Amino acid sequence: MSQASEDFSKVDVLIVGAGPAGLAAAITIKRLKPELVVCVIDKGAAPGNHALSGAVLEPECLARLLDPLLPEWRETPAAREALPARVKIDDVLLLTARGSLQLRPLLKLARLLGLGYGRMIHEGDHICSVSRLVAWLSGIATGIGVEVLPGFAAAELLWQSATGRAGGVRLVDQGRDRTGEPQVNFLAGETIAADFILLAEGCDGLLSEQFIAAAGLRRAGEQLYSLGVKELIRVSAEQYRQFSAERVVHAMGYPLWTPVAGPDIFGGGIIYPMGDNRLAVGIIAGLDYPYHDFNPQDALTLFKAHPAVARYIAGGTVEEAGAKMIPEGGLYAVPRSPYDGAIGRGNVVLLGDAAGLVNMLKIKGLHNAIHSGIAAAEAVAASAAPENLAVNYTAGLERAGVLAEMAEAKNFRQSIARFGTLAGMGLALLGRLLPQFKVAPDYTHLGGGSYPLKPSRPFDKDAFTALALTAHREEEPCHLLIGDPAICRERCLAQYGAPCITFCPAGVYERIGDQPRPANPSNCLHCKTCQRKCPYDNIRWTVPEAGGGPHYTTM
Ligand SMILES: Cc1cc2nc3c(=O)[nH]c(=O)nc-3n(C[C@H](O)[C@H](O)[C@H](O)COP(=O)(O)OP(=O)(O)OC[C@H]3O[C@@H](n4cnc5c(N)ncnc54)[C@H](O)[C@@H]3O)c2cc1C
Repeated sequence: MSQASEDFSKVDVLIVGAGPAGLAAAITIKRLKPELVVCVIDKGAAPGNHALSGAVLEPECLARLLDPLLPEWRETPAAREALPARVKIDDVLLLTARGSLQLRPLLKLARLLGLGYGRMIHEGDHICSVSRLVAWLSGIATGIGVEVLPGFAAAELLWQSATGRAGGVRLVDQGRDRTGEPQVNFLAGETIAADFILLAEGCDGLLSEQFIAAAGLRRAGEQLYSLGVKELIRVSAEQYRQFSAERVVHAMGYPLWTPVAGPDIFGGGIIYPMGDNRLAVGIIAGLDYPYHDFNPQDALTLFKAHPAVARYIAGGTVEEAGAKMIPEGGLYAVPRSPYDGAIGRGNVVLLGDAAGLVNMLKIKGLHNAIHSGIAAAEAVAASAAPENLAVNYTAGLERAGVLAEMAEAKNFRQSIARFGTLAGMGLALLGRLLPQFKVAPDYTHLGGGSYPLKPSRPFDKDAFTALALTAHREEEPCHLLIGDPAICRERCLAQYGAPCITFCPAGVYERIGDQPRPANPSNCLHCKTCQRKCPYDNIRWTVPEAGGGPHYTTM
């Protein structure tokens, strides 16, 4: 297709989301079909600004992505900077309130016996910052002619039911005032038409969920979510040396789960070395928790104070912070076409977290995101007609082993959602022998009980949000829509005390008079927890003006 170089109103391939999945797709398409115009849009202001992860990354996906294009990539300074270390020591700890038990030998035994839990070992994997990984991949994509456009937010997929395909994507309007009226600088959201559309929006994507509903895709089981809250802490050189630049810690148990007295929340803590005397410390908490006053940041405070963690970070300075959701439902929650089982329909496919390709036995999604990007690119190159994309893509995911890996892990998270952490983890030993259990959406799990381990001081959300460097234009319309404000006021406040005020990591929600409302939308970190944990399913996240949101650089 030929066109003026700055005109993106019609492209061959449009990719929504410049995360690992979207960029892997773009790089591979350009390698296989250099003549195609490939455009990747992202709502973040710069590549990597909306990327937050652990991150421990399996290496094989990068070899598949980059070896055919740049055989020497491992030796480049940019690669060394993006992938500074490998995991030599992989500690998996079970924490009690004061102590810890090393589970690594048990997991190694599980690996020897071929049990799913053996997948939790990550020795040899890269330790990296995903913001940096994305910035690096974005540079490679741009270098081979992909149009990577940060600051472009998609608001709507133009799905055509009659033809069973999408014509393009509409970008968000810019320049409305708080009431929605156009201001002098108003720019109506443009349409980008495309033959192939790859939705790589990450977890709980706006267009992805529109597409799943409009195209009639179905999930065999509920999608479940967790929220990860993470801080990047500068510690002393001695603390960093003691921790080691080649060691990662995954911790379960306290403060999310204790076997007898509770609490019972699925999830755990992570500590990863990020170079330059900085440790990434985080908590990932399943959103099927029952406590109306639980906030994952409180669990982070308790985790940081645990002796197994505090010794490495005491006296340290938090330099960056952020929050993001993870889709945890596994294979049952991957949306598929009822007609042919495709993970997409016609000329539109779902990649990476947008499809839910996170393996919860490994607690990893980056490798599958990258494999899915490669599979989508190969499908674009192989599809004589755009309508064949979804079927070809799904066959490629199958060939790459992504769906087989997801199948191995399919009962793990679902068993815990159904039976609680202790029983669920025990049952999950049976792996694929288990039947599918019916699980309910996260928001239905909220009860009246309190999280029993509150820290003595409230978490400083203002400082946390400031360290995410999040910003939106103050005058733009609120992008968090409340279905029925009376439900918040008359039912949620009375029954649960409006938990959005507590669980939102950025303090977006406040009670003003007797009305809970998104009073500070400009603080939003785009984690979308409110959309999934409001007990009345009464909040919808829509995309704000492009370029808004966090500005992560090392998360
Ligand atoms: C705390 C935490 C720790 C994790 N640890 C690990 C780990 O150690 N190892 C691992 O393998 N995985 C880990 N994961 C999971 C991993 O980060 C994801 O599986 C992976 O990032 C998915 O990549 P993606 O490209 O599908 O989506 P994302 O990385 O989420 O990228 C999606 C992109 O799409 C953009 N976007 C979304 N909507 C729009 C729109 N409407 N318009 C324009 N742009 C849009 C976003 O701004 C974003 O840049 C972790 C996740 C979290 C939250």
